[in-house]
Amino acid sequence: MTRPRHGLTLRVSLLTQCQYDCAYCRPGALTPAVGKSQWLSAAEYGRLARVFAQEEIGRVRFTGGEPLLRPEVVEVVGAFRAAMPGAELALTTNGQLLAAKLPALVEAGLQRATVHVDSLDPERYRALMGDGELEAVLAGVLEAQRVLQQVKLNVVIQEGKNEDEIPDFLAWSRAHRVEVRFIELMNTGSAVGYTRQVFFSGQQILARAGAVERLPRRNPSDPAALYRTADGVTFGVIASDTEPFCADCNRLRLNCAGLLRGCLYQPGGVPLGPALREGATDRTLGFMLGSAIRAKQSHHPLAGTERAQFSMADAGG
Ligand code: SAM
Repeated sequence: MTRPRHGLTLRVSLLTQCQYDCAYCRPGALTPAVGKSQWLSAAEYGRLARVFAQEEIGRVRFTGGEPLLRPEVVEVVGAFRAAMPGAELALTTNGQLLAAKLPALVEAGLQRATVHVDSLDPERYRALMGDGELEAVLAGVLEAQRVLQQVKLNVVIQEGKNEDEIPDFLAWSRAHRVEVRFIELMNTGSAVGYTRQVFFSGQQILARAGAVERLPRRNPSDPAALYRTADGVTFGVIASDTEPFCADCNRLRLNCAGLLRGCLYQPGGVPLGPALREGATDRTLGFMLGSAIRAKQSHHPLAGTERAQFSMADAGG
């Protein structure tokens, strides 16, 4: 693992459940949803945040499942802000509840958001993602654009489902000045046959985007490779399978039960949450965290080690 100049990125999952059931993610399909009694409380997140603050954490991204479904999300963001005044705080969300929660999230210290939208057509949006109002989500994106430092759109591209919308998303991005990141499907295990059927590679995404110029990644550890269209729209492509970026990965993932993983594909995880509940001191938790960071290695792709089957929602995508 290289240590980028901005330190490590910690993804903090708040729960595994989501209102949506995207066919490539399917929360709870492989492993049962983590039950409420196992969820870390806001105070427990706060305690772990102070332990994480002893390491060089440059960014914390709150995710899930759908993080805005947790009533305590604002308190959790506030706890990380208090523990890590210098870290960037970001959120990955499907955006359904974003507009309503934005003022409190900003007050708590949130600076960035990435909103997941797989279609700009309301009916197709519902068919691909679930029962949600596209217009309300896009209104939330634009409001977030007004009050946060940075907002991006995540679009998972699937052949025969939404690859024809790549030019529409680029036009939308140009009109609203919100950067779009097209995501190549990862074969995570929760929908193996399905992801094979609709796989659309990063190279195919670029071909649909038309003539593009490649730009340098903003940070070596960014998952998105950056491009610019002939008419000046900058966009990202995250091609985890066809162009893996494991060597520069700086991410740690804390799930909602407090298991810490250095890689999505790593089975198990370091049990920070369970140790905390059994009475571990901050010193012990710090020691466990330090060894997890030192042990961080790439299991992806096909690194010859055991690979966990997971859903992105269960792992904290
Ligand atoms: N609920 C939030 C959302 O919808 O963004 C946060 C959690 S979701 C698991 C995070 C991201 O993972 C989303 O952008 C989603 O599209 C992506 N994702 C889930 N499964 C995926 C897969 N198999 N391949 C690529 N991206 C995936």
